[in-house]
Amino acid sequence: MSDRQQRRQKKHQLHQLGETVLKRGLPQAPAPEALLGLAVVLRGALADTNVGDRASRAAEIVHKVFEISAKSTPSKLDIACRKGCGYCCHTWVSATAPELFLIARALQSANSGGAPGRAAVLDRAGKTAGLDITQRFGRKIPCALLVDDACSMYAERPTVCRQVTSTELAACIDEYEGRDFNGDMIVSRLYLDHARNCRIPLQAALASLDLPLASYELGSGLTAALGPGAEAAWLSGRDTFQGITPAPAEPTQIQQVIHRLATALVALG
Ligand code: SF4
Repeated sequence: MSDRQQRRQKKHQLHQLGETVLKRGLPQAPAPEALLGLAVVLRGALADTNVGDRASRAAEIVHKVFEISAKSTPSKLDIACRKGCGYCCHTWVSATAPELFLIARALQSANSGGAPGRAAVLDRAGKTAGLDITQRFGRKIPCALLVDDACSMYAERPTVCRQVTSTELAACIDEYEGRDFNGDMIVSRLYLDHARNCRIPLQAALASLDLPLASYELGSGLTAALGPGAEAAWLSGRDTFQGITPAPAEPTQIQQVIHRLATALVALG
């Protein structure tokens, strides 16, 4: 078998593994092959130029895997989070570009349900634009998508929102009130890991296609993502988020994993 045939066979096997991940989710500590399999599926979705909203669709895949993973390995901790409890939705939140495009697409669709309209979101997003994590602390400025203390874009919310699961309501209130920044809040390690496991293959797929990996503050990022033709422009290599300070980079160890996966994706072709 030639090298080319071997690569194609390997890619096919990884794609099948990725499809299994889409059906069954990922464990808390997945094998590198499983992450690579999911990355192969995501790279395929992001490279399909027949699909105009392929960045949003990649985010949908990631969210689906997160939800299946979280359901198949539920936390043993007593999670305090409930609908109608929106304390954490008054803090600094970031999202990757595909996740921002997904929210923008949903907001602009007729099916956006109880979400505020585009103009209202832009107005509300302007109140958090340019504020960093510490500047948001204790200011009680709600996320642009928070309506009646519930997320109006719950199905499309970013992985960062999915991963925050508090076991201590009092700590959330302390942070909301500006008394104790990230004080004694105990969040479930499980959901943090699931979110990381889903973001890594997405970021590797983006890197393998020379697309930006950065995350942005949700309000500022959403304002850019709601611009006309923003997703198509970003996919074509234009800097849709120009002038917006990216969220802090992933830890070095995570960057190395992303780089390794991206390199493997490029080698597979
Ligand atoms: S996107 Fe939704 S869950 Fe996330 S901070 Fe905003 S309102 Fe809360």
